[in-house]
Amino acid sequence: MSCREDVADGMDIISKERRSWNMSRIRSKDTRPEMLVRSMLERLRYRFRVYDRNLPGKPDIVLPRRRLALFVHGCFWHRHRNCRFAYTPKSRVRFWQKKFRENVERDRLKAGALRKQGWRVRVIWECETRNLGLLEKRIQAMVRALDQQNYQWRKKLTS
Ligand SMILES: [Zn+2]
Repeated sequence: MSCREDVADGMDIISKERRSWNMSRIRSKDTRPEMLVRSMLERLRYRFRVYDRNLPGKPDIVLPRRRLALFVHGCFWHRHRNCRFAYTPKSRVRFWQKKFRENVERDRLKAGALRKQGWRVRVIWECETRNLGLLEKRIQAMVRALDQQNYQWRKKLTS
């Protein structure tokens, strides 16, 4: 392969990755996992809002009464630890690693800003939405744990 071909080849790979990156940004609203979580919350009769502009990082979903902010994260883009969907592509490893680092850092900052305002932040991973039975259990357990926290907090205040 000549040098020139090599460069052209590399550029093509970058532009392809950019394209899919941009597309993933565009598609990052109302994703299928988010829709699954929302319809589960509806089914469980929890009141929630989506993409609240007044909150830092515009969380995917908030349950205002419980002061709970939920992010529904794609395992690949947000690097779900020990998850088989969070693989790193074999080509342009540095490019991907940088993207992933930026995503994880952005998530960390958003969560920090929300916590500062008294929100509790939880993540539901895309792979957790693949089994609706488990998703339901996960959401119920999460909310129950938060309500328990509230109860103990109030007990401490009043005792
Ligand atoms: Zn995952």
